[in-house]
Amino acid sequence: MPAKTMDELVSLCKRRGFIFQGSEIYGGMQGAYDYGPLGTELKNNLKNAWWRAMVYERDDVEGLDAAIIQNKHVYKYSGHEDTFTDPMVDCHECKSRMRADHMKDIKKCDNCGSDNVTEPRDFNLMFKTNVGPMVNEDSYTYLRPETAQGIFTNFKNVVDSTSRALPFGIAQIGKSFRNEITPRNFIFRVREFEQMELEFFCKPGEDEKWHDFWVETRKQWWLDQGLTEENIQFEYVTGDDLAHYSKSTVDILYKFPHGFEELEGVANRTDYDLGSHTKAQEEFDLSAKVKKNEHSTAKLAVRDLEANKWEVPFCIEPSAGLDRGMLAIMTEAYTEEELENGSTRTVLKFKPHLAPIKVAILPLKKNKPEIVALAKELKNKLQKLGLGRILYENTGNVGKGYRRHDEVGTPLCVTVDFDSIEKDDAPVTVRDRDTMEQVAIPAAELPAYIINYFVNQD
Ligand code: ATP
Repeated sequence: MPAKTMDELVSLCKRRGFIFQGSEIYGGMQGAYDYGPLGTELKNNLKNAWWRAMVYERDDVEGLDAAIIQNKHVYKYSGHEDTFTDPMVDCHECKSRMRADHMKDIKKCDNCGSDNVTEPRDFNLMFKTNVGPMVNEDSYTYLRPETAQGIFTNFKNVVDSTSRALPFGIAQIGKSFRNEITPRNFIFRVREFEQMELEFFCKPGEDEKWHDFWVETRKQWWLDQGLTEENIQFEYVTGDDLAHYSKSTVDILYKFPHGFEELEGVANRTDYDLGSHTKAQEEFDLSAKVKKNEHSTAKLAVRDLEANKWEVPFCIEPSAGLDRGMLAIMTEAYTEEELENGSTRTVLKFKPHLAPIKVAILPLKKNKPEIVALAKELKNKLQKLGLGRILYENTGNVGKGYRRHDEVGTPLCVTVDFDSIEKDDAPVTVRDRDTMEQVAIPAAELPAYIINYFVNQD
């Protein structure tokens, strides 16, 4: 049974160290969350799974890690300075602030029901910041509202350094910032978040074919992370709902505890971004900084050798939110099971490659030196396999350990007991999170057993 309420998830996340309210000791900070010990592992595992699928398993994608702070002209020419806005409504009675396109009725306050509300007005979502010690009207820039612009501005650098020809993509994972009018629903809508973005460049005319391809490929990737078909939907974005750069967008929605909402957007950005940055290079006075000749101006295009002309590629962008991905994975994994003895257990049924702790090693007796030594030796051996975090945990209470590890989604627990040090074949007990079955394995064979489990389960 998936999580019934967001409250259950929020409470588990705090109790077990996945996610904490940001700046909590000062009363919190709306729209900012901190990832705790297990949340950090889960996040890294999800990022690694994305990078593996989008970069390593393909031969037509390169990676990038661009700066968060860019020249303000990037956002002028990308169109964000003028158009990256949401419509905002204020209530004169209760002072609530609302996003007009999320209101039930834009003439009535969602909070108090009063009709004493303002007309919707555009609010730019970019955080403005000052760069350098002098504060003057030119010293500002913005925190990036999407990672994509760093990819577009580096298009020529990547093409030149990798000799790529169309079609090919550039992938990037990183923080983005949006001054959301109403951050809400835990980590679903926050002001600081991470995106996993691919900009896939292709010939104009081939864009619709690639758009379809990426919508299906991305959906399959989410299924591979453990989300289920019935909790995923597509929404075809049209008309005024399209972003300023998009010709068509398909949103991949997930059934979060608060309903079906966007998890990832797959947009056909056409030649909008590369085109407008290229055009800007021609208009913008770069004379002081860049010598104007064909090699030094940033023509963000590829040379069509047959037609002997520059051609600005089209771009398909699958843009996934890492924080929303975490929330979806946790929602799907959250299970409450009734046991034969009438008690219930909470289990996070993560796919093994996403589990924050892969294996927990639990010595049966806290103070028995031979048991402790063997448990530590096994931890060190398994850690070297490179599967992720292997936890040695010496509390002496194996039963409670199983419960705790069910709740944080550890796929396997290994118990080291007296048999492990006394018998010739030194058996340890491996307990499976989902089936709760226990098997005895000779300690010497444990690394092979564990590798086999993780390779076959995913
Ligand atoms: P929404 O309509 O929910 O505001 P959007 O359409 O503006 O989202 P995009 O610009 O398409 O979002 O961004 C791509 C992805 O980045 C989204 O699918 C989402 O997963 C993530 N994302 C965007 N804004 C936020 C946010 N405020 N908090 C968390 N994740 C976000």
